[in-house]
Amino acid sequence: MSIQSIVLPRMMQIGSGACEKLPEFVRAVGGSKPLLVTDKMMVQLGYAEQVLSVLREAGIEADVYDDTVPEPTASSIMGGVVMVQNGSYDVVIALGGGSPIDSAKAIAVMGKFGGTIRDYCFPRLVSEKGLPLIAIPTTAGTGSECTKVTVITDEANSEKLLCVGTAFMPTAAIIDYTLSLSVPPRTTADTGIDALTHAIEAYVSRKAGLYSDSQALAAMSLIGPNLRTVYHDGGNRAAREAMMLGSTLAGIAFNNASVALVHGMSRPIGAFFHVPHGLSNAMLLPAVTAYSIPAAAERYADCARAIGVAAAGDDTDTANGKLLDELVALNRELKVPTLAEFGVQKADFDAVVETMAEQALASGSPGNNPRIPAKEEIVAIYRELW
Ligand code: NAD
Repeated sequence: MSIQSIVLPRMMQIGSGACEKLPEFVRAVGGSKPLLVTDKMMVQLGYAEQVLSVLREAGIEADVYDDTVPEPTASSIMGGVVMVQNGSYDVVIALGGGSPIDSAKAIAVMGKFGGTIRDYCFPRLVSEKGLPLIAIPTTAGTGSECTKVTVITDEANSEKLLCVGTAFMPTAAIIDYTLSLSVPPRTTADTGIDALTHAIEAYVSRKAGLYSDSQALAAMSLIGPNLRTVYHDGGNRAAREAMMLGSTLAGIAFNNASVALVHGMSRPIGAFFHVPHGLSNAMLLPAVTAYSIPAAAERYADCARAIGVAAAGDDTDTANGKLLDELVALNRELKVPTLAEFGVQKADFDAVVETMAEQALASGSPGNNPRIPAKEEIVAIYRELW
């Protein structure tokens, strides 16, 4: 296995009520004037006020930017960038799912260094030190609180830009599963499958190593037995707690081992057809796993065992058969729609399928897959979704 260089937040607080630590974290990163980056749902649910009041009680007044949108775009982050450029903020706090956290990452860097998001996208590795960022996830999830990645769509050409580098690693993360108790079933399913995909892809990635393996396997063993439970019974605190930690560990795993073909193919679907990120991953996961198993059969069998669908004594082929059955069954039980059911027109899809395959390859993620596809193979997998 290759050498892995590990990048993590400097501090984490994990568990019920962890938000109480926020003022301590603000001071520890040298902050006194925070900008809270969030979305309207967090304001409506009272989570934004909860965070602001914890800060206020400690004598810290924060301003709020709540115009982030799901699957953030180059223009949706600009209001926050301008606030940082014109204000005297010394720390950014991100509260919400992956969308507000990714928005905040871009705002913390672009607010200080300017430019457009395209200036920061892959293959450039961004190491500029933006404002310190404290991330508080409310979905389980993207793991963005522990990744050096932000994904921002350039609406000019419908491309989801992957921006990578230590600049985008939060300085601190507060992981409080109680904030996820209110996530509705559809988003619970989509975000949960996203986390599962992170763990599987990190484990089968060509950049996997012993460190990321240990995080990925732990994540799968937390997510596998609890995903159906949180979908059917969102108030189950033990299952929510397992999912939240599983999501964070999956984030740590893929941050240090990279994601692979599912993510590479998923981003263009999201950019062209506005399919939420976790949902497009879920649509692709069974087909991409079937394509990839021949190149990493033992690794996928380990995944089946960690998730809990294969027994320790099952041989590799049996375990992989069970894994494929499980991924299909999971999508059925969690009511993951097909592209057609989601409302995508086949003719529209056919018109861009070649471009999507090119964008998938350009992102670099397919190069980490155990079986590296040619463009035609990516097109063929896309067509399998119909
Ligand atoms: P999201 O942040 O877009 O949230 C989805 C919906 O759920 C929103 O309407 C939001 O308001 C709502 N929501 C969030 N938390 C809630 C709660 N506690 N209760 C009720 N509703 C809640 O979804 P997401 O899947 O967390 O994030 C998706 C974004 O993350 C995409 O843009 C994707 O590209 C990105 N992503 C980033 C990384 C990374 O490492 N940076 C990894 C994977 C995905």
